[in-house]
Amino acid sequence: MLNKKSVDDLNVKGKRVLVRCDFNVPLKEGKITDETRIVAALPTIQKLVGDGAKVILCSHLGKVKNGPNEGESLAPVAERLTQKLGKEVVFVSDYNVTGQAATKAVEAMKEGDVVLLQNTRFRGKEETKNGEEFSKELADLADDYVCDAFGSSHRAHASVEGVTKFITAKGGTNAVGYLMQKEIEFLGNAVENPVRPFVAILGGAKVADKLNVISNLLEKCDTLIIGGGMAFTFLKAQGKEIGNSLVDDTKLDYCKEMMDKAEKLGKKLLLPVDSTIAAAFPNPIDGPIDVQVVSADAIPADMQGLDIGEKTAELYADAVKTARTVVWNGPMGVFENPVLAKGTIAVAKALAETEATTIIGGGDSAAAVNQLGFADKMSHISTGGGASLEFLEGKELPGVAAADDK
Ligand code: AMP
Repeated sequence: MLNKKSVDDLNVKGKRVLVRCDFNVPLKEGKITDETRIVAALPTIQKLVGDGAKVILCSHLGKVKNGPNEGESLAPVAERLTQKLGKEVVFVSDYNVTGQAATKAVEAMKEGDVVLLQNTRFRGKEETKNGEEFSKELADLADDYVCDAFGSSHRAHASVEGVTKFITAKGGTNAVGYLMQKEIEFLGNAVENPVRPFVAILGGAKVADKLNVISNLLEKCDTLIIGGGMAFTFLKAQGKEIGNSLVDDTKLDYCKEMMDKAEKLGKKLLLPVDSTIAAAFPNPIDGPIDVQVVSADAIPADMQGLDIGEKTAELYADAVKTARTVVWNGPMGVFENPVLAKGTIAVAKALAETEATTIIGGGDSAAAVNQLGFADKMSHISTGGGASLEFLEGKELPGVAAADDK
């Protein structure tokens, strides 16, 4: 389906191949707390090593708001990769990322060797449109380029997109890696060619963040389920009292439009029928809280909805039970608090139990599924929250577009 060159189309023996990975892993006191993204990158790296390439890895880590610093160095990733690959990964710790140290390390490489460059965001230009110089320096290190960073593929950054035109200029090939292929295959099939019934579940805080996703998925799915904070703007648009629940008053017309669209298209749009409410948002977020469950049209004016209620959880689980394809993005409530995580857990459980192909769109829902131990019960858990959302909006991802056509 994906008409782009992949690692299988490359002839890499003895060649230098720059691979953009997504090693943006969570760290606590210098230790990696979740290695999912490292594990997900291994198949492409192993393939290139096996084919005798000189494999040069690069990635960003964190937001790097205050300039290069040891806390956001990729050193822990180099160490974990060395363990996982069972061979030494040479780490170029230089904050300049490219330049003398990197060039020297690459010159010393033999076939099958692996080098990891420092955090690409240490250059500061990674995110800006002026990243030309950095893009060229990255391309200067290599003959061919592979993008396997699905989680970053929605950003037209130097190491994702900028580098590709310099690789092309020197006669090299730009390809996608196995992780990219797998992500696009699952997400693409679900959206463009789903086995029906296709149920899409959206949650999370704000409607505004998911406007295009809602609209696009309504066209593709059979049933669209809305939970989380964003449901209250829909409920208010229906004329319901939502008390102090999270709401975006500028999006009431949009929600009405979407409800009309669902009706016109003959699609089911499911909204909460009950809500777990409290007098105030928990502070701290995981602190103790008194809650009650009320019908969605009986939320008192001085209370706020912080999770879906039990009836809603049942309704949503029923829809999932009969589905053949399910895509889920965003929690059903303030799942950071155990008292308010029940709706999110119920949905995760329903997905774990259904026969349907289940696709988790990264971010909070992926974290929830992992924490609950349901990860191996899902067909696919995306490694990219933002990227999978943009994909579900129907947008072309810059990291995919930049790869050479087959
Ligand atoms: P998002 O980043 O849009 O996926 O939103 C995730 C956040 O939405 C989580 O931090 C949740 O705590 C929050 N959230 C979910 N439901 C609600 C709600 N009913 N009220 C306020 N925040 C919510």
